Amino acid sequence: MKYAIQSKGDDRSNETRDKIIRCFEGYQIEYDDVNPDIVITVGGDGTLLHAFHQYLNTLQKIAFVGVHTGHLGFYADWRTTEIEELVYKIVHDPLRIVRYPLLEVVIKYHNGKPDERYLALNECTVKSEVGSVVMDIKIKDDLFETFRGDGLCISTPSGSTAYNKSLTGAIIHPSIEAIQLAEMASINNRVYRTIGSPLVMPKEHVLKLYPLKNSKYHISIDHIFLVHNDVKSIHCRVAPEKIQFARIRSFPFWNRVRDSFIGKKKDI
Ligand code: NAP
Repeated sequence: MKYAIQSKGDDRSNETRDKIIRCFEGYQIEYDDVNPDIVITVGGDGTLLHAFHQYLNTLQKIAFVGVHTGHLGFYADWRTTEIEELVYKIVHDPLRIVRYPLLEVVIKYHNGKPDERYLALNECTVKSEVGSVVMDIKIKDDLFETFRGDGLCISTPSGSTAYNKSLTGAIIHPSIEAIQLAEMASINNRVYRTIGSPLVMPKEHVLKLYPLKNSKYHISIDHIFLVHNDVKSIHCRVAPEKIQFARIRSFPFWNRVRDSFIGKKKDI
């Protein structure tokens, strides 16, 4: 087996990375940044997002595991005090895998430029360069509504605890293959009317956004922000690819939600 480590880059994360490398010494496991079977991120959820995009082309053969050097994360749920246990289990236990859904985003352009395809682990957001976003929203090619407002956020279940949550979207268990559309400050008046609630769409449903006003948009894919010109439409669906996490011990999703947002369970 081969492993790689991606550190957030601060002193604490780099020290933890070095400690993990020392712990692996003497075992039949080789450090390989290019072709790893397991990628250990050290930092936070943001660090795992970066690693996901770095290894986008080899997702099907990589299992991710995250160590946090700040606060408990959704992707980074191992503590620095548990490094020896983590390394021991990676080396000695059979590797169990869980697969979480991803979001596929295809952007189509007016000027004959080829489509661009992206994969997001958390979400895609669409905001306007100037003024508000005005878009027809189609679900399965049927017009659902015309949106006018600050922007739109389309998230994965595992990204539902990130930006989506700040937009009062629902938290979705990552075993559910779905995407969620959440509004950013929609304008509702006699001309524009939106549903106002986040929408959760199953695997087969394609969500299409058609700009009505401008064609220049700020489109984020996780932490990556790009300006796109001549945008004709944006198509979103559950991606055929998935991300794999090493399930080294059980830490149920709802416990992570509770511990992250409410606080640790009190002893009864
Ligand atoms: P950042 O602005 O430095 O950090 C954003 C925060 O989101 C960090 O605290 C990060 O946790 C946390 N986070 C990332 N993924 C998460 C997840 N799946 N569940 C719960 N929290 C999560 O940006 P970044 O580190 O590069 O991360 C990019 C992400 O930031 C985007 O994908 C988006 O979800 C999020 N974001 C949120 C808002 C908002 O809520 N208003 C605005 C912009 C972006 P760590 O500290 O553990 O890294």
